[in-house]
Amino acid sequence: MTEHLNHFIEGTGCEASDGRRIPLVDPVTEQVYGSCARGTADDVDRAVNAAHHQLEQGAWSQLDGAQRARLLLKLADLVERDTELLADMDANAIGRSPIEPRRMDVPNALANLRAAAGWANQLEGRTIPSGGYFGTKTLSYTVREPVGVVGAIVPWNSPLMITVWKLAALLAAGCTVVIKPSEETPQSALHLAALAREAGFPDGVINVVTGYGAEVGRALCEHPHIAKISFTGSPEAGREIQRTAGVLFKHVALELGGKSPQIVFDDASFEDALRGCTLGLFANQGQICAAGSRILVQRGIADRFAAALADAAQAVKVGDPREPGVQMGPVAKKAQFDRVNRYIQLGIDQGATLLAGGVSTPERGWFVRPTIFANANNDMAIARDEIFGPVGTVITFDSEEEAVALANDSTYGLAATVWTTDLVRAHRVAGAVKVGAVGVNCWSPLDANLPWGGVKTSGIGREGGFGGALAYTEEKVITVLLPK
Ligand code: NAD
Repeated sequence: MTEHLNHFIEGTGCEASDGRRIPLVDPVTEQVYGSCARGTADDVDRAVNAAHHQLEQGAWSQLDGAQRARLLLKLADLVERDTELLADMDANAIGRSPIEPRRMDVPNALANLRAAAGWANQLEGRTIPSGGYFGTKTLSYTVREPVGVVGAIVPWNSPLMITVWKLAALLAAGCTVVIKPSEETPQSALHLAALAREAGFPDGVINVVTGYGAEVGRALCEHPHIAKISFTGSPEAGREIQRTAGVLFKHVALELGGKSPQIVFDDASFEDALRGCTLGLFANQGQICAAGSRILVQRGIADRFAAALADAAQAVKVGDPREPGVQMGPVAKKAQFDRVNRYIQLGIDQGATLLAGGVSTPERGWFVRPTIFANANNDMAIARDEIFGPVGTVITFDSEEEAVALANDSTYGLAATVWTTDLVRAHRVAGAVKVGAVGVNCWSPLDANLPWGGVKTSGIGREGGFGGALAYTEEKVITVLLPK
């Protein structure tokens, strides 16, 4: 079936202003299966103006928190109704098994929409005791107002879930939005916008402009009516976005990459740690920001653990993810395939021991074999850079201090996992690692009520939880003079 996808602006599908299109390529077959509109600055202008109108004077601007909550709950019900469709859209676009988004991404998106419905009516201000005004008493209070029109820029690895992280929170706060999905995966964002229309959101509250980052993304960052850019993606693009939007004094939230350590102590449950590390390495073909790709293992169990990881890697069934029994599909795109293979070659060249996988040369489709390196050190490229593919690097440590030092010796700081049965050590190490989220005996627990985000090169700001909704508000203070 050929897909012909257009923008969704003010409740209607429309072509790019100059009619140009971007081909969509199936990572399993390398065949073009459709196309999406290649957005222009004019398209962005139309979408932002529609969103701005709703924010300032449209029906949306008149709704209170309880009414926004009702719409969010309706949207959640429609997303739940279309679970399989949405999961298939995301899975097919990047060659992922649909089982993962059915079990993880869509339920997480649903939880976020429903949690946000609760936040919509809790965006309270404060009453603040103040010192009066030239001898006259005053009453000062604050109100939370929507920050404005948001530009939401989303990557391809978990398109629906990441779009909803932004959407649920910003709608709860009363903002409107122009979403720019990744050029590889526009399907679920467009379907979500159509579902929002069905739920009763006024046209213009949620708009989707498809296209390239350098064109649509940049135009969003430069548009005068965009108040905040919420970006998830690579540090390289994040840097450019911060530069462009920062000089225009827009709010910028950046959810960037990671090189997250999984720290396995010798007192850990070997089987649990093995299962968690395997999941953290190979879920979504390793194309997860929180992928636990640096496996730090205490010396006493390091060889046995690395060998077990290699066995697990070799046991993964790679192939067309639409076929039963297949556990891993291809990586999402040719550039990603080349990048992952380049890093595997670098790992070999820099002297790490290749225990499983290796450089892949499939006849067709961007398939990469799950790969495990052992005897690596933290200076190697495979330990420092985010590969964003199914490649694990095992590094040995002796003491807890060394483990923490290795974990923190990274430009990234998104997430970490600590595997140990020593509860005191677990808390100590969780406190010492410089990241945004730590899992103890579990890899990357995601929950709508928990904040998510990183430090250092992993980003600025937090999504999720009530704080995620507050991040889409401005606190305004009002002072009233109270003469006798
Ligand atoms: P990317 O930066 O190439 O693209 C992300 C989005 O930004 C796309 O929609 C793209 O079109 C757009 N974009 C690219 N350049 C832009 C520019 N100059 N101005 C405006 N928009 C621009 O990233 P990707 O390859 O799609 O995604 C992979 C990256 O995303 C990885 O680094 C991964 O770790 C990160 N990621 C982070 C999180 C998180 O929560 N921290 C979650 C998922 C992915």
